[in-house]
Amino acid sequence: MPGQKKQTIKERSITFFNLSFLPLIPNKYLEYSMSVSCKDLKSKKYFEPTKGFVESLLNIEFIDSCSNRAHCPFHEDRRDSFRIYVDGKDEIRFHCFGACNRDWDVYDLVMLKEKCSFPDAQVRFAKFLGIDILAR
Ligand SMILES: [Zn+2]
Repeated sequence: MPGQKKQTIKERSITFFNLSFLPLIPNKYLEYSMSVSCKDLKSKKYFEPTKGFVESLLNIEFIDSCSNRAHCPFHEDRRDSFRIYVDGKDEIRFHCFGACNRDWDVYDLVMLKEKCSFPDAQVRFAKFLGIDILAR
């Protein structure tokens, strides 16, 4: 029957239309823009994942009520001299008030710990956050 055939084609095209959209876009690209750069990943909005990343990277644990202090893994630290904090540019940074008396960002810490290059450090951290592509 000509009428029935027309109806079938219409249904198929609707199905194709629906499938051709949403499932092709991975969720992570909806949340994190494709143009994300390694600098963007230092933003304070990644504070909690960054803290978790650095805890596992350096095998430390942030303690106390503010949960921003830890024993520094780079010197013999009897006090909790190591800090995670957000600077005036809303970037996450790390500081040792003890013997190191130094300041780092997350990539500095990866390079220091893993003895890898800056590009490798970027890839490691981005992968941890579930981001495959970094903008140049
Ligand atoms: Zn230190």
